[in-house]
Amino acid sequence: MEARILDGRALAAELRESLTERTAALRARGVAPGLLALVVGKDESSDAYVRGMKSLGAKIGIEVAVEVLPLQSDERAVRAALERAGANDGVHGVILQQPLPEHLSIRNVADAVPEHKDVDGTNPVNGGRLAFSTQTRFVPATPAAVLLLLERSAAWPLRGKNVIVVGRSSVVGLPVALLVLAQNATVTIVHSQTPDIAARVRTADVAIVAIGRPRLVDASWIKPGATVIDVGTTVVAGKLCGDVDMESVRTVAMDLTPVPGGVGPVTNVALMRNVVAAAESVAGTKS
Ligand code: NAP
Repeated sequence: MEARILDGRALAAELRESLTERTAALRARGVAPGLLALVVGKDESSDAYVRGMKSLGAKIGIEVAVEVLPLQSDERAVRAALERAGANDGVHGVILQQPLPEHLSIRNVADAVPEHKDVDGTNPVNGGRLAFSTQTRFVPATPAAVLLLLERSAAWPLRGKNVIVVGRSSVVGLPVALLVLAQNATVTIVHSQTPDIAARVRTADVAIVAIGRPRLVDASWIKPGATVIDVGTTVVAGKLCGDVDMESVRTVAMDLTPVPGGVGPVTNVALMRNVVAAAESVAGTKS
């Protein structure tokens, strides 16, 4: 069997088109949707991320502004910047770039991300709402992207399917598991302390892998005919590499996402979709 590739770039382009129509409608009502990316300390990877967001925003019609705080900023300074963004009417969405420098803890600043502009679902209030069966306006971008790709997979609808999420981080694994559970799948989360992990994953109709261990998952982990979503992104010898050994897994899976070109491009558009929804709610239009 040769697996079908779930093409994230094509899906992102499709989603972009409808967002562009929505931003045009907003502009016609005098609302220019705006995203603020708050970055603490500059480095190459945050520069690349911000460049990518700016260029995507320009395509969709969203103004992306960047505020860079000095690397040594303390929690108070980060909270103050987030509060300023909350009070700025030109900003509809706020994202706090992660990971933060080591001296800062996301746990101590996440609640300062303005709840009504929390387009990456960072504020624990929005995380809590997600646990109440997606009763949140802002599903975090990467988990939202995983669901958007699953909707296009052979495993959809997920009702009654056996889904295994590999990784339990609060930004990816845990919210993905909640979203999949809300689709009536039977969900198992496995992590670094789980024994016999490959044997467990081999029972899954859908394997979602978010661990940051390049090409760890090969065909021996995958049930024939399963859907495989690879969230991992690690740079190896200058190239972006997923957690899944695609050449091996594509011989057994029904469909799978590539890296690059899978979850990543859809994630960025999912974030922009939340910005548009936030601007629409300000403009009093339906999202
Ligand atoms: P993280 O916070 O480091 O969490 C990694 C998770 O994987 C942890 O739960 C860890 O278990 C588990 N894990 C690590 N090694 C394992 C192993 N050998 N077997 C089983 N479980 C293992 O990472 P993250 O933020 O969730 O990100 C995961 C990956 O997704 C990274 O490569 C990251 O770059 C990528 N990512 C991609 C996007 C995108 O848009 N494409 C967005 C966000 C993240 P413990 O909890 O037991 O330590």
